[in-house]
Amino acid sequence: MENPLTDKIALVSGGSRGIGRAIALALAWAGADVAVNYRANENGAREACDEIRRLGRRAMAVRADVSRAAEAARLMDRVRRELGPVAILVNNAGIGTVRTMDTITEEDWDDTLAINLKAAYLLIQAALPDMRKARWGRIVSLSSVAAQIGGLIGPHYAASKGGIIGLTHYYAAHLAGEGITVNTIAPGPVDTDMMAGLPEMRPEMLPVGRFGTVDEIADVAVMLARNGYITGQTINVNGGRYFG
Ligand code: NAP
Repeated sequence: MENPLTDKIALVSGGSRGIGRAIALALAWAGADVAVNYRANENGAREACDEIRRLGRRAMAVRADVSRAAEAARLMDRVRRELGPVAILVNNAGIGTVRTMDTITEEDWDDTLAINLKAAYLLIQAALPDMRKARWGRIVSLSSVAAQIGGLIGPHYAASKGGIIGLTHYYAAHLAGEGITVNTIAPGPVDTDMMAGLPEMRPEMLPVGRFGTVDEIADVAVMLARNGYITGQTINVNGGRYFG
């Protein structure tokens, strides 16, 4: 069977650590060249690129705060110039600042919505001209089980992740005829820095009795990148925390 990812160019936002880094490596393992975006953790992004190159694929690390339109556009231009047009976009960058309904501020809301939701919109808009020209594209965005059950991070986080599902539905419906699929992964708790900031969430609260691994999420991202017949879907990878 032909590998649809061979030589395709992928961009993973927030690929310097956690789930994004695992997705970047898994896409490289599956045959893609990968641009690894980061905001602060340059070393993490460079290490991810070194690992990708060891797999025989091209890689580049690009600093950009993807919640800012100008930086998102510059990021896409640099990847296009240095690797080529992006065919696989993974909207993974995110923050999970824990706040309750009693402690949340307007700034918390704005920061979270900008990074977790607006950035995905900005990167999709920036990637679409090349994908539409090629009549091939894969867009995978990270939502969360918090979109479905509320979760423990706070109202801002749940709303941002719910927004990702609506965003996915819009683009999937309008791009299905152009060879571009648009899907969402909704993970439950996964062992990363983000989860370390949420001590109230314990493995025994999950039906499977443990947190997910980054590779279990990356696996699904690669599946969505390879498959051209799944679009507009939310794939739940949540250890049984929510039955979709
Ligand atoms: P993480 O370990 O905290 O890593 C976050 C990544 O996002 C880092 O690479 C970080 O870059 C990057 N980032 C943050 N703000 C950015 C910005 N403005 N511009 C560019 N990059 C930015 O997070 P994670 O746990 O892997 O989560 C990844 C995604 O999955 C997030 O969207 C998260 O909401 C979602 N998710 C996670 C879980 C979980 O349990 N972990 C569950 C459900 C959904 P730097 O390293 O440079 O700071």
